[in-house]
Amino acid sequence: MNNIILLGAPGVGKGTYGEKIAKILNLKIVVMGNIVREEAKKKTAFGKKIKETIEKGYLLTDEDITNILKNYLNNSKLKEGIILDGYPRTINQAEILESLIKVNKVVYYFASEKIIVQRLSSRLICPKCKAVYNVLTMPPKKAGYCDNDNEKLIRRKDDEPESIKKRLKEYEEKTAPLEKFYEDKGILIKIKGEGDPEKVIQKTIEKLKT
Ligand SMILES: [Zn+2]
Repeated sequence: MNNIILLGAPGVGKGTYGEKIAKILNLKIVVMGNIVREEAKKKTAFGKKIKETIEKGYLLTDEDITNILKNYLNNSKLKEGIILDGYPRTINQAEILESLIKVNKVVYYFASEKIIVQRLSSRLICPKCKAVYNVLTMPPKKAGYCDNDNEKLIRRKDDEPESIKKRLKEYEEKTAPLEKFYEDKGILIKIKGEGDPEKVIQKTIEKLKT
């Protein structure tokens, strides 16, 4: 098993890189945000609680998010290892994760705040197939519509300017210390998440192989 974690502020490009890196390395991409959104669709009391928290733009508690991940890992057949995007977000979560899987490498993507804000406010998703576009870097073929199914693209609620500011602030406070946590373990790789995404991906693969 080869398990890789992707770290980096919202909008640094993790989603784009992770999906392609997973394909190249034959690993399963596990995007915490997607798993959480699936949970939030469930008509259970827990699902409803998760839905409310997301809509307010807050991060979930460590306990809630960990339970969602545990259930996912238990119900999935993962043989080749995973690329985990969106978890852990706190030191506490990182410590819990150690008891769930062995973490082999952690890729920390960084970019300037200006670039992050620019990217986030230009991100569009397809409500039907969940494809992600970016009007600056990865525009759909037909402006405003999904390449896969021609559905009208929308901006996610947490990509609105107020939510972006809140998320960046929460990231700084809670997630940035993870960089040090994994650096101390000697498994951290730092990569600049700016410029051509293909080059960022290529660099990541090279570093993961060394
Ligand atoms: Zn679509």
